[in-house]
Amino acid sequence: MSPAAAKIKRREPPVVAADRPALLLDWYDRHRRRLPWRPPAGERADPYRVWLSEIMLQQTGVKTVGPYFERFLARWPDVASLGRASQDDVLRMWAGLGYYSRARNLHACAVAVLRDHGGVFPNTEEGLRKLPGIGPYTAAAIGAIAFDIRTMPVDGNIERVVSRLYAVEEPLPQAKPLIQELAATLLGLSRAGDSAQALMDLGSSICTPKKPACALCPLNEDCMARTRGDQETFPRKAPKKTGTLRRGAAFIVTRGDELLVRTRAEKGLLGGMTEVPGSEWLAGHDDKAALKQAPALKGVERWHRKAGVVTHVFTHFPLELVIYTADVAARTRAPEDMRWVPIATLAGEALPNVMRKAIAHGLGE
Ligand code: SF4
Repeated sequence: MSPAAAKIKRREPPVVAADRPALLLDWYDRHRRRLPWRPPAGERADPYRVWLSEIMLQQTGVKTVGPYFERFLARWPDVASLGRASQDDVLRMWAGLGYYSRARNLHACAVAVLRDHGGVFPNTEEGLRKLPGIGPYTAAAIGAIAFDIRTMPVDGNIERVVSRLYAVEEPLPQAKPLIQELAATLLGLSRAGDSAQALMDLGSSICTPKKPACALCPLNEDCMARTRGDQETFPRKAPKKTGTLRRGAAFIVTRGDELLVRTRAEKGLLGGMTEVPGSEWLAGHDDKAALKQAPALKGVERWHRKAGVVTHVFTHFPLELVIYTADVAARTRAPEDMRWVPIATLAGEALPNVMRKAIAHGLGE
Protein backbone atom coordinates (compact mmCIF):
# COMPACT_ATOMS: atom_id res chain seq x y z
CA MET A 1 0.00 0.00 0.00
CA SER A 2 1.32 3.44 -0.85
CA PRO A 3 2.02 5.91 1.98
CA ALA A 4 -0.82 8.12 0.74
CA ALA A 5 -3.30 5.28 0.77
CA ALA A 6 -2.08 4.26 4.24
CA LYS A 7 -2.72 7.77 5.61
CA ILE A 8 -6.17 7.86 4.13
CA LYS A 9 -6.92 4.42 5.52
CA ARG A 10 -6.00 5.50 9.02
CA ARG A 11 -8.74 8.13 8.92
CA GLU A 12 -11.44 6.60 6.76
CA PRO A 13 -11.54 3.90 4.11
CA PRO A 14 -10.23 5.27 0.80
CA VAL A 15 -12.77 6.03 -1.84
CA VAL A 16 -11.87 3.99 -4.87
CA ALA A 17 -13.54 5.46 -7.89
CA ALA A 18 -11.91 3.89 -10.87
CA ASP A 19 -14.00 5.91 -13.29
CA ARG A 20 -12.98 9.32 -11.95
CA PRO A 21 -10.35 9.81 -14.69
CA ALA A 22 -12.92 8.98 -17.35
CA LEU A 23 -15.57 11.24 -15.78
CA LEU A 24 -13.06 14.08 -15.67
CA LEU A 25 -11.98 13.69 -19.29
CA ASP A 26 -15.57 13.46 -20.41
CA TRP A 27 -16.35 16.70 -18.56
CA TYR A 28 -13.23 18.37 -19.98
CA ASP A 29 -14.21 17.47 -23.55
CA ARG A 30 -17.46 19.34 -23.05
CA HIS A 31 -16.37 22.25 -20.87
CA ARG A 32 -12.68 22.97 -21.44
CA ARG A 33 -11.77 26.67 -21.19
CA ARG A 34 -10.54 28.47 -24.28
CA LEU A 35 -7.17 29.92 -23.35
CA PRO A 36 -4.68 31.68 -25.64
CA TRP A 37 -2.01 29.02 -24.99
CA ARG A 38 -4.27 26.03 -25.56
CA PRO A 39 -4.49 24.45 -29.03
CA PRO A 40 -7.85 23.20 -30.37
CA ALA A 41 -9.09 19.90 -28.88
CA GLY A 42 -7.11 16.89 -30.02
CA GLU A 43 -4.01 18.85 -31.08
CA ARG A 44 -0.70 18.51 -29.24
CA ALA A 45 0.31 21.67 -27.35
CA ASP A 46 3.48 23.58 -28.26
CA PRO A 47 6.06 23.21 -25.41
CA TYR A 48 7.09 26.87 -25.83
CA ARG A 49 3.54 28.13 -25.31
CA VAL A 50 2.94 25.79 -22.38
CA TRP A 51 6.19 26.86 -20.71
CA LEU A 52 5.62 30.59 -21.33
CA SER A 53 2.07 30.45 -19.97
CA GLU A 54 3.03 28.35 -16.95
CA ILE A 55 5.81 30.77 -15.95
CA MET A 56 3.48 33.75 -16.38
CA LEU A 57 0.69 32.03 -14.45
CA GLN A 58 2.85 31.48 -11.38
CA GLN A 59 1.39 34.00 -8.91
CA THR A 60 -0.65 35.78 -11.63
CA GLY A 61 -4.24 35.15 -12.80
CA VAL A 62 -5.38 34.00 -16.25
CA LYS A 63 -7.07 37.33 -17.09
CA THR A 64 -3.92 39.38 -16.47
CA VAL A 65 -1.63 36.89 -18.18
CA GLY A 66 -3.64 36.66 -21.45
CA PRO A 67 -2.55 40.00 -23.03
CA TYR A 68 1.08 39.58 -21.84
CA PHE A 69 1.18 36.11 -23.35
CA GLU A 70 -0.11 37.41 -26.70
CA ARG A 71 2.43 40.26 -26.74
CA PHE A 72 5.33 37.94 -25.94
CA LEU A 73 4.25 35.51 -28.61
CA ALA A 74 3.87 38.26 -31.23
CA ARG A 75 7.36 39.55 -30.49
CA TRP A 76 9.11 36.21 -29.84
CA PRO A 77 7.18 33.46 -31.65
CA ASP A 78 9.48 30.66 -30.50
CA VAL A 79 11.97 29.88 -27.77
CA ALA A 80 14.94 30.50 -30.06
CA SER A 81 13.89 34.10 -30.80
CA LEU A 82 13.33 34.72 -27.07
CA GLY A 83 16.78 33.24 -26.39
CA ARG A 84 18.31 35.79 -28.76
CA ALA A 85 16.52 38.76 -27.12
CA SER A 86 18.24 40.97 -24.54
CA GLN A 87 17.30 40.59 -20.88
CA ASP A 88 16.39 44.29 -20.81
CA ASP A 89 13.83 43.84 -23.57
CA VAL A 90 12.32 40.85 -21.78
CA LEU A 91 12.10 42.75 -18.47
CA ARG A 92 10.46 45.67 -20.26
CA MET A 93 7.82 43.42 -21.80
CA TRP A 94 7.29 41.76 -18.43
CA ALA A 95 6.87 45.03 -16.49
CA GLY A 96 3.62 44.98 -14.53
CA LEU A 97 3.40 41.18 -14.14
CA GLY A 98 5.39 41.25 -10.87
CA TYR A 99 7.77 38.68 -9.33
CA TYR A 100 10.53 39.74 -11.70
CA SER A 101 12.88 36.86 -10.95
CA ARG A 102 10.47 34.91 -13.16
CA ALA A 103 11.33 37.17 -16.12
CA ARG A 104 15.06 36.83 -15.57
CA ASN A 105 14.72 33.05 -15.31
CA LEU A 106 12.45 33.01 -18.36
CA HIS A 107 15.16 34.69 -20.39
CA ALA A 108 17.93 32.51 -18.92
CA CYS A 109 15.87 29.40 -19.74
CA ALA A 110 15.31 30.45 -23.36
CA VAL A 111 19.06 31.15 -23.69
CA ALA A 112 19.83 27.67 -22.28
CA VAL A 113 17.33 25.91 -24.56
CA LEU A 114 18.82 27.69 -27.57
CA ARG A 115 22.45 27.17 -26.54
CA ASP A 116 22.31 23.65 -25.07
CA HIS A 117 19.35 22.02 -26.82
CA GLY A 118 19.34 23.58 -30.29
CA GLY A 119 16.16 25.55 -29.56
CA VAL A 120 14.09 22.45 -28.67
CA PHE A 121 12.76 21.83 -25.15
CA PRO A 122 13.91 18.53 -23.56
CA ASN A 123 11.02 16.03 -23.54
CA THR A 124 11.56 14.55 -20.06
CA GLU A 125 10.71 15.96 -16.64
CA GLU A 126 14.30 15.42 -15.56
CA GLY A 127 15.67 17.34 -18.55
CA LEU A 128 13.17 20.15 -18.07
CA ARG A 129 14.02 20.51 -14.37
CA LYS A 130 17.63 21.24 -15.20
CA LEU A 131 16.58 24.46 -16.94
CA PRO A 132 16.51 27.83 -15.09
CA GLY A 133 13.19 28.65 -13.45
CA ILE A 134 11.63 25.22 -14.09
CA GLY A 135 10.74 23.48 -10.82
CA PRO A 136 8.92 20.19 -10.28
CA TYR A 137 5.47 21.67 -10.95
CA THR A 138 6.38 23.41 -14.21
CA ALA A 139 8.34 20.39 -15.44
CA ALA A 140 5.31 18.17 -14.77
CA ALA A 141 2.95 20.66 -16.47
CA ILE A 142 5.08 20.88 -19.63
CA GLY A 143 5.71 17.13 -19.52
CA ALA A 144 2.02 16.24 -19.25
CA ILE A 145 0.54 18.92 -21.51
CA ALA A 146 3.16 19.14 -24.27
CA PHE A 147 4.72 15.67 -24.21
CA ASP A 148 1.88 13.54 -22.79
CA ILE A 149 4.10 12.14 -20.03
CA ARG A 150 1.92 10.37 -17.43
CA THR A 151 2.50 12.81 -14.60
CA MET A 152 0.25 15.17 -12.65
CA PRO A 153 1.30 18.80 -12.07
CA VAL A 154 -0.41 19.97 -8.88
CA ASP A 155 -1.22 23.69 -8.76
CA GLY A 156 -3.42 25.56 -6.28
CA ASN A 157 -6.62 24.62 -8.13
CA ILE A 158 -5.76 20.94 -8.13
CA GLU A 159 -4.74 21.07 -4.46
CA ARG A 160 -8.17 22.41 -3.61
CA VAL A 161 -10.10 19.82 -5.65
CA VAL A 162 -8.07 16.88 -4.36
CA SER A 163 -8.07 18.00 -0.74
CA ARG A 164 -11.88 18.20 -0.92
CA LEU A 165 -12.39 14.94 -2.77
CA TYR A 166 -10.42 13.10 -0.08
CA ALA A 167 -11.11 15.49 2.84
CA VAL A 168 -7.37 15.81 3.49
CA GLU A 169 -7.06 17.02 7.10
CA GLU A 170 -3.34 17.69 7.05
CA PRO A 171 -2.69 21.41 6.47
CA LEU A 172 -0.69 22.85 3.59
CA PRO A 173 2.17 22.95 2.91
CA GLN A 174 2.85 19.67 4.79
CA ALA A 175 0.01 17.96 2.89
CA LYS A 176 1.65 18.54 -0.50
CA PRO A 177 3.24 15.07 -0.94
CA LEU A 178 -0.01 13.36 0.07
CA ILE A 179 -2.08 15.54 -2.28
CA GLN A 180 0.41 14.90 -5.08
CA GLU A 181 -0.01 11.17 -4.65
CA LEU A 182 -3.80 11.36 -4.49
CA ALA A 183 -3.91 13.65 -7.54
CA ALA A 184 -1.98 11.08 -9.56
CA THR A 185 -4.86 8.62 -9.08
CA LEU A 186 -6.98 10.93 -11.24
CA LEU A 187 -4.77 10.42 -14.30
CA GLY A 188 -6.24 8.41 -17.12
CA LEU A 189 -4.17 5.76 -18.87
CA SER A 190 -3.60 8.26 -21.67
CA ARG A 191 -4.22 12.00 -22.21
CA ALA A 192 -2.24 12.99 -19.10
CA GLY A 193 -2.19 16.65 -20.17
CA ASP A 194 -5.96 16.72 -20.58
CA SER A 195 -6.46 15.07 -17.16
CA ALA A 196 -4.31 17.77 -15.57
CA GLN A 197 -6.01 20.60 -17.45
CA ALA A 198 -9.42 19.12 -16.61
CA LEU A 199 -8.59 19.34 -12.91
CA MET A 200 -7.21 22.87 -13.30
CA ASP A 201 -10.41 23.94 -15.07
CA LEU A 202 -12.61 22.18 -12.55
CA GLY A 203 -10.82 24.00 -9.73
CA SER A 204 -11.11 27.37 -11.40
CA SER A 205 -14.72 27.17 -12.59
CA ILE A 206 -16.60 24.67 -10.37
CA CYS A 207 -14.62 23.74 -7.27
CA THR A 208 -13.96 27.38 -6.41
CA PRO A 209 -12.59 28.57 -3.04
CA LYS A 210 -16.00 29.93 -2.02
CA LYS A 211 -19.37 28.40 -2.87
CA PRO A 212 -18.22 25.50 -5.08
CA ALA A 213 -20.86 24.52 -7.62
CA CYS A 214 -20.95 20.88 -6.51
CA ALA A 215 -24.18 20.15 -8.37
CA LEU A 216 -22.30 20.67 -11.65
CA CYS A 217 -19.18 18.74 -10.64
CA PRO A 218 -18.50 15.49 -12.51
CA LEU A 219 -16.91 14.01 -9.35
CA ASN A 220 -19.66 14.95 -6.92
CA GLU A 221 -20.94 11.43 -6.24
CA ASP A 222 -18.05 10.36 -4.07
CA CYS A 223 -16.55 13.64 -2.88
CA MET A 224 -15.85 13.25 0.84
CA ALA A 225 -16.00 16.96 1.67
CA ARG A 226 -19.28 17.33 -0.17
CA THR A 227 -20.77 14.42 1.77
CA ARG A 228 -19.71 16.11 5.01
CA GLY A 229 -20.85 19.54 3.84
CA ASP A 230 -17.62 21.32 4.79
CA GLN A 231 -16.11 21.80 1.30
CA GLU A 232 -15.10 25.42 1.85
CA THR A 233 -12.85 24.51 4.78
CA PHE A 234 -10.45 22.67 2.43
CA PRO A 235 -7.59 22.81 1.80
CA ARG A 236 -6.59 23.15 5.44
CA LYS A 237 -3.90 25.77 5.84
CA ALA A 238 -1.30 26.47 8.50
CA PRO A 239 -1.62 30.04 9.85
CA LYS A 240 0.06 32.58 7.57
CA LYS A 241 3.17 34.44 8.61
CA THR A 242 3.14 38.02 7.45
CA GLY A 243 6.43 39.87 7.35
CA THR A 244 7.19 42.97 9.36
CA LEU A 245 6.21 46.29 7.79
CA ARG A 246 9.14 48.04 6.15
CA ARG A 247 9.22 51.71 5.32
CA GLY A 248 11.28 53.88 3.03
CA ALA A 249 11.37 57.06 0.97
CA ALA A 250 11.15 57.51 -2.80
CA PHE A 251 12.32 60.67 -4.57
CA ILE A 252 10.36 61.84 -7.58
CA VAL A 253 12.55 64.35 -9.39
CA THR A 254 11.34 66.03 -12.58
CA ARG A 255 13.33 68.07 -15.07
CA GLY A 256 10.66 69.58 -17.30
CA ASP A 257 8.90 66.56 -18.77
CA GLU A 258 11.58 64.09 -17.71
CA LEU A 259 11.93 61.90 -14.60
CA LEU A 260 15.06 60.80 -12.76
CA VAL A 261 15.46 57.00 -12.59
CA ARG A 262 18.11 54.36 -11.99
CA THR A 263 18.46 50.59 -12.42
CA ARG A 264 18.34 48.29 -9.40
CA ALA A 265 21.18 45.87 -8.69
CA GLU A 266 21.02 42.70 -10.78
CA LYS A 267 20.66 40.39 -7.76
CA GLY A 268 17.91 40.48 -5.18
CA LEU A 269 14.36 41.81 -5.01
CA LEU A 270 13.24 43.47 -8.29
CA GLY A 271 16.77 42.89 -9.62
CA GLY A 272 17.58 44.72 -12.86
CA MET A 273 14.32 46.69 -12.80
CA THR A 274 13.99 50.46 -13.17
CA GLU A 275 13.21 52.55 -10.08
CA VAL A 276 13.17 56.12 -8.89
CA PRO A 277 15.95 56.89 -6.40
CA GLY A 278 15.02 56.00 -2.86
CA SER A 279 16.21 55.11 0.60
CA GLU A 280 16.69 51.61 1.98
CA TRP A 281 13.48 49.81 3.01
CA LEU A 282 13.76 49.13 6.72
CA ALA A 283 11.53 48.12 9.62
CA GLY A 284 13.18 50.81 11.73
CA HIS A 285 12.75 53.61 9.17
CA ASP A 286 13.71 57.12 10.16
CA ASP A 287 12.79 60.15 8.03
CA LYS A 288 16.03 62.04 8.65
CA ALA A 289 18.21 59.05 7.72
CA ALA A 290 16.07 58.45 4.62
CA LEU A 291 16.48 62.09 3.49
CA LYS A 292 20.25 61.70 3.70
CA GLN A 293 19.92 59.10 0.92
CA ALA A 294 18.23 61.58 -1.43
CA PRO A 295 20.03 62.05 -4.77
CA ALA A 296 22.53 64.94 -4.71
CA LEU A 297 21.20 67.43 -7.28
CA LYS A 298 22.34 70.93 -7.99
CA GLY A 299 19.81 73.50 -6.85
CA VAL A 300 17.78 71.16 -4.61
CA GLU A 301 17.95 72.44 -1.05
CA ARG A 302 14.61 71.21 0.21
CA TRP A 303 12.37 68.30 -0.65
CA HIS A 304 8.61 68.60 -0.78
CA ARG A 305 6.92 65.78 1.13
CA LYS A 306 3.70 64.64 -0.51
CA ALA A 307 0.73 63.98 1.75
CA GLY A 308 -0.07 60.31 2.34
CA VAL A 309 2.03 57.21 1.68
CA VAL A 310 2.25 54.58 -1.04
CA THR A 311 1.65 51.02 0.15
CA HIS A 312 2.62 47.78 -1.54
CA VAL A 313 2.62 44.17 -0.38
CA PHE A 314 5.51 41.91 -1.40
CA THR A 315 5.43 38.18 -0.72
CA HIS A 316 7.49 38.48 2.45
CA PHE A 317 6.70 41.95 3.74
CA PRO A 318 4.40 44.93 3.34
CA LEU A 319 6.00 48.25 2.35
CA GLU A 320 5.09 51.87 2.98
CA LEU A 321 6.82 54.59 0.97
CA VAL A 322 6.95 58.28 1.82
CA ILE A 323 7.21 60.32 -1.37
CA TYR A 324 9.40 63.40 -1.73
CA THR A 325 9.37 65.54 -4.87
CA ALA A 326 11.57 68.19 -6.45
CA ASP A 327 11.67 69.94 -9.81
CA VAL A 328 15.09 70.88 -11.13
CA ALA A 329 16.27 73.31 -13.76
CA ALA A 330 16.80 72.33 -17.38
CA ARG A 331 20.25 70.84 -18.01
CA THR A 332 20.66 69.67 -14.39
CA ARG A 333 22.92 66.65 -14.60
CA ALA A 334 21.77 63.28 -13.33
CA PRO A 335 23.92 61.89 -10.47
CA GLU A 336 26.18 58.96 -11.30
CA ASP A 337 24.26 55.73 -12.10
CA MET A 338 21.03 57.66 -12.70
CA ARG A 339 19.42 58.95 -15.88
CA TRP A 340 16.62 61.14 -17.15
CA VAL A 341 13.79 59.48 -19.05
CA PRO A 342 10.84 61.24 -20.74
CA ILE A 343 7.71 60.81 -18.63
CA ALA A 344 5.82 60.06 -21.85
CA THR A 345 7.89 56.90 -22.40
CA LEU A 346 7.66 55.50 -18.86
CA ALA A 347 5.22 52.82 -20.00
CA GLY A 348 8.09 51.23 -21.93
CA GLU A 349 10.42 51.12 -18.91
CA ALA A 350 10.85 47.97 -16.81
CA LEU A 351 9.10 49.58 -13.84
CA PRO A 352 7.69 47.28 -11.15
CA ASN A 353 4.21 48.03 -9.85
CA VAL A 354 5.47 49.53 -6.60
CA MET A 355 7.41 52.12 -8.61
CA ARG A 356 4.47 52.86 -10.89
CA LYS A 357 2.42 53.59 -7.76
CA ALA A 358 5.16 55.80 -6.29
CA ILE A 359 5.53 57.78 -9.54
CA ALA A 360 1.78 58.20 -9.95
CA HIS A 361 1.57 59.51 -6.37
CA GLY A 362 4.59 61.78 -6.80
CA LEU A 363 3.42 63.26 -10.07
CA GLY A 364 0.08 63.91 -8.45
CA GLU A 365 -1.94 61.63 -10.76
S1 SF4 B 1 -18.15 17.88 -5.32
FE1 SF4 B 1 -17.84 20.02 -4.84
S2 SF4 B 1 -16.21 20.04 -3.31
FE2 SF4 B 1 -16.18 18.02 -4.27
S3 SF4 B 1 -14.69 18.21 -5.90
FE3 SF4 B 1 -16.68 18.63 -6.80
S4 SF4 B 1 -16.95 20.86 -6.67
FE4 SF4 B 1 -15.25 20.28 -5.31
